[in-house]
Amino acid sequence: MKNAVKKPGPRFRMTPQRAGILRLLEGNKSHPSAGDIYRRIHKKFPGLSFATVYNTLQSLIALGELAEIRIDPRRSRFDPATTAHSHLMCVECGSIADLKAPPQPPLPKERPSGYRILRCNIEFYGVCPACGKKPGNKEKKSCMKTRQK
Ligand SMILES: [Zn+2]
Ligand SMILES: [Zn+2]
Repeated sequence: MKNAVKKPGPRFRMTPQRAGILRLLEGNKSHPSAGDIYRRIHKKFPGLSFATVYNTLQSLIALGELAEIRIDPRRSRFDPATTAHSHLMCVECGSIADLKAPPQPPLPKERPSGYRILRCNIEFYGVCPACGKKPGNKEKKSCMKTRQK
């Protein structure tokens, strides 16, 4: 079966900015914010404004080349890996790790009639190994005792 990848529409143009940002993000697993991306891209393309970088990110999202991650309540983060996966964010330093297979929650027994459920997004929050080693973080308890098998 063929990949169901959407063909770029007639308005698609792989501008140098888009190509540059995509190349910069390729294989990046740090889930950078727009600001992080701007600081890195600025070194290569010093003439680019933050607004241009931000708009380019939005175009890449619209093209399906980039995913916007909303696990961080303070700012959007971006992920070049657009296949379905879940995220685990460190509440101390904001680092985000990938969880390869998204967990499959049971469908709610009661739901509004007439709705079809298309997707569900589960986010995990925790403390990363580096932050866990900091003094004072020892007593943070895990909440893993319920639900997850
Ligand atoms: Zn951390
Ligand atoms: Zn990810």
